[in-house]
Amino acid sequence: MADENTTNGFPAQVISIIGNTGMHGEAQQVQCQILEGRDKGRVITRNCVGPVRVGDIMTLIETSREAKKLSNRWFKMEQRKCSFCGKMLEPGTGTLYVKKDGAAYYLCSSKCRNNMKLGRIPRKVAWTEKARTDLNKKNWSPVGPYQSQGMIIMDTERTYVMVKPDGVARGLVGEYISRIEKKGLKIVAMKMCVMSEKDAKAHYAEHAEKPFFGGLVSFITSGPSVSMVVEGANAVKIMRAINGATKPFEAAPGTMRGDYAVDTGRNIVHASDSVESAEREIGIHFPDKSAFITYTRADEKCLYE
Ligand code: UDP
Ligand code: MG
Repeated sequence: MADENTTNGFPAQVISIIGNTGMHGEAQQVQCQILEGRDKGRVITRNCVGPVRVGDIMTLIETSREAKKLSNRWFKMEQRKCSFCGKMLEPGTGTLYVKKDGAAYYLCSSKCRNNMKLGRIPRKVAWTEKARTDLNKKNWSPVGPYQSQGMIIMDTERTYVMVKPDGVARGLVGEYISRIEKKGLKIVAMKMCVMSEKDAKAHYAEHAEKPFFGGLVSFITSGPSVSMVVEGANAVKIMRAINGATKPFEAAPGTMRGDYAVDTGRNIVHASDSVESAEREIGIHFPDKSAFITYTRADEKCLYE
């Protein structure tokens, strides 16, 4: 059986370029001669995306399942990485998501799409040459890891973190924020409040049956806490690492809990344990979307390759 995941085509040589059909002279019609296989010698006309010169040898995808959907279209699309997990995508496979501001993301699976949801991406199209042409027509900029028109697109995610009342009382807010900033993550929302009992119960709902639940809710609502939404590549895992293990006696030195806490019930900080939890917790503590601030850190160019 043919490997459905690989591009398996036959070569053809461009013998003339018929015209530019794309706004930036990108999508072109070319006349080619097939060099190998059943149709060797045949001259055919095909659309092509990307810069092409007479003499170029190009490949017509013919066997992969995704390629069949592209049927007669030429493959000269760049290979791209999934904007979330970084996996290489076969040209024409995966899904292209376009943000209202024109930034485009290529995603390999629904899992990555869900992880990306935090970035609120409204429009979905199959990643085909047609989609790319549409992008050009509408003057959106297709931006991806390989083609970044002045913008930095990172595999970003958001997480919810909190300095608990014990951390605030002990003056550790600045220390925590400093570690987040120095690491290179971006704080996109922040507030200080005394958490309501309703929010505390919703936040710790997974522990509702545990013996420590009552004490935990009354402690977390006992005084001011500082809540933040932190953004960046792998923000969830990074913030868990900055916090350290739940039980301070297991938390490594260099982590917040390892450096500043002793007791599990007074472990000073919180961070969501997964992208799904983050989405849920952000919804509880920052229901108002206007709380999120979009800005660029001056060092983003150094932080992401
Ligand atoms: N907690 C506690 N006693 C326990 C376990 C947990 O007081 O035996 C508290 C602790 O403050 C912890 C919180 O409950 O941070 C939530 O527990 P979880 O296991 O979710 O740890 P976390 O995600 O905060 O590391
Ligand atoms: Mg937890």
